[in-house]
Amino acid sequence: MPLTNSKTIGIIGGGQLGQMMAISAIYQGYRVLTLDPDPTCPASQVAEQIVAAYDDTAAIAELAARSDVLTYEFENVSADALAPYATKLPQGLDLLRIAQNRIFEKAFLAKVGVRVAPYQVIETAADLDKLDLSHKHVVKTATGGYDGHGQVVVATAEDLERAKDLASAQPCVSEAFVDFLKEISVIISGNGTEFSVFPVCENLHRHNILDKTIMPARISTYLAEEAAAMALKIAQSLCLSGTLCVEMFVTEHDILVNEIAPRPHNSGHATIEACDFSQFDLHIRGVLAEPLPKVTLLAPAVMLQVLGQDVAAAQQYVTADPSAHLHLYGKIEAKENRKMGHVTVLTDDCAIKL
Ligand code: AMP
Repeated sequence: MPLTNSKTIGIIGGGQLGQMMAISAIYQGYRVLTLDPDPTCPASQVAEQIVAAYDDTAAIAELAARSDVLTYEFENVSADALAPYATKLPQGLDLLRIAQNRIFEKAFLAKVGVRVAPYQVIETAADLDKLDLSHKHVVKTATGGYDGHGQVVVATAEDLERAKDLASAQPCVSEAFVDFLKEISVIISGNGTEFSVFPVCENLHRHNILDKTIMPARISTYLAEEAAAMALKIAQSLCLSGTLCVEMFVTEHDILVNEIAPRPHNSGHATIEACDFSQFDLHIRGVLAEPLPKVTLLAPAVMLQVLGQDVAAAQQYVTADPSAHLHLYGKIEAKENRKMGHVTVLTDDCAIKL
């Protein structure tokens, strides 16, 4: 009997998501190799690493040669660089290309038949002159945006000029501004044919960065089922392997899909303690095409993000409440607004804070 599950999982990106994927894979008996340019990255503390740029083709070739299966912790990995190793990438190149480009993503979501905010493709800055300024819009670059970077809310002629700066550099999409009641996300995992949905997450942001996730979301059973059904539709149409996050807006009358992230997600961290299987566990099982369990919520939970400026408060929090779970990712420098860790508390007290 071999002592380990001998397969090696190659992860592009060694940040906190790569680290938590690696920890789960290691628990399950797999070997892990990561590719990251920073020799001190979070995953370096738990797994072997190739130190190289994410788009270094020789390094990707080495990672592919030494791994049975490839995955990634963020979607801005070059799909072209991974194309020669597509047979080792169960998540597929199409999913990567869709998630990298908001124009492709919107077209994909429309094809699947899930509802999105009304939008238009902005090919050049001049297209923005057609925007109807009697209501608000959000102009987002097609590629490269994250945590509110690469987007402008357009309500005035002045905002329009800022949006034109974005659109003069690259194509964009312009969406109707959604006056949402809540932001939620559904984490779903697949093994190509079977899918497991996690309880709906309710997400609160601070400076455009996720600050708190409440699991399960405080929405009606009807809306929670609707959100799960939308995520399932997306997963089925992709024959999803691994974990995917579907971010959504809840409005007074509807749920709209905002975007998808083809990997475990910040909003799913509470699954580590709150569910019988975490988003990382099922990501690993999914990319290896292993059978997937139905996920059960063990207890309601609140996840509090720990940014650089919050580390001392997080440490004090767990000293005062030792039942809280502190996760620190082992990043060396605690910069302002840098995600250093998170705290998960099994509670239904949604007002808690660091
Ligand atoms: P995104 O990069 O698309 O996830 O957007 C970042 C954040 O901007 C979201 O979490 C929302 O809070 C806000 N946002 C994005 N799109 C819209 C929209 N169409 N209407 C209102 N707020 C939005």
